[in-house]
Amino acid sequence: MKKTVEILKGDTPGTEWRLTVLSFEGTDQSAPTAYLQAALHGNELPGVVALHRLVPMLEAAERDGRLLGRVTIVPQANPIATGQHLFHEHLARFSFTTRTNFNRDFPLLSSTDTSGLPGDDAPIAAEKRLKARLLKLSLGHDLILDLHCDDEGPSYLYVARQLWPHLQDLAAALGSQAILLWDDTSDGAFEEAAWSPHKHRSPDDPAWRRLAVTTVEFRGQSDVTPELADADAAGLYRFLVARGTVRDETQPPLGPWSGPVTPLDHVEMIRAPVGGALLFHVGPGDHVEAGQTLVTILTAPGEAGGETVVTAPQAGLVLTRRRQRLTRTGEDLLKILGSAPSATARPGSLES
Ligand SMILES: [Zn+2]
Repeated sequence: MKKTVEILKGDTPGTEWRLTVLSFEGTDQSAPTAYLQAALHGNELPGVVALHRLVPMLEAAERDGRLLGRVTIVPQANPIATGQHLFHEHLARFSFTTRTNFNRDFPLLSSTDTSGLPGDDAPIAAEKRLKARLLKLSLGHDLILDLHCDDEGPSYLYVARQLWPHLQDLAAALGSQAILLWDDTSDGAFEEAAWSPHKHRSPDDPAWRRLAVTTVEFRGQSDVTPELADADAAGLYRFLVARGTVRDETQPPLGPWSGPVTPLDHVEMIRAPVGGALLFHVGPGDHVEAGQTLVTILTAPGEAGGETVVTAPQAGLVLTRRRQRLTRTGEDLLKILGSAPSATARPGSLES
């Protein structure tokens, strides 16, 4: 394994960020190559700890001559977000400088040629130069996994519709509990930028068959434990073996995957009609019926009529739940996987 540290110039004199890149060369030029990054949203750590546990497994494979394809790992892909704290709160979803979501507005290229992307001397904010850097590091790999997590929820995947069911093996390897399919755009998420150069390829193209591009949601923000890190590292390793990046005869073949596969417009994004303290009546994994009470919002605690009840617009499976227990009007509370289009569905990604 080789470690390199990439320097990202700061936006003000005397500042810079450092991006650690771990790379394995592999022994077989024809084997599928893999790129894995975590914590693009800097406070989403399940992927960071999973990669920490995966690297020694890859080093062992490398020592034994079993690491076939080139593997690039960026365990903490966003040093800007990792350092964004304000009064003890870690605010790592939006850039303090540009107010842009760190996982939106990536450049969408029509090929894997990244030579036209801005370099570190370009007169643009570091957040944009970081996005260009991550694309330069990742494009050209066959398997590109961007490891995120939700507020509270199970392990699940976002997948471009054209890549399903091609990515069933990934879902089986990781033990994913659900698949969310997106169609035209995810608002320039890293995943869309990684998929963009390939989306016009035919599934008959052998290069297409090697591809895997996805956003992995490794459960919730607080699901950071030694046991889950080991389990997720094992899942990632199983996938690399299944695709032939790593050879390991001790790994049993992957079984079939079954679970809900839901287009984004069938996801009920339950939003707060009013602000207040949240009393959730349901949580991830619960099946709910249409009209069932989901959450009580206390708008005027202690007063008669001081609460608002939010009910399910359709039957479905509660996938995720908000972590903070105070909401403002209009904020996201729950994702429910419905079987029919949501009346409030909107184009693009589910969340801002
Ligand atoms: Zn994220």
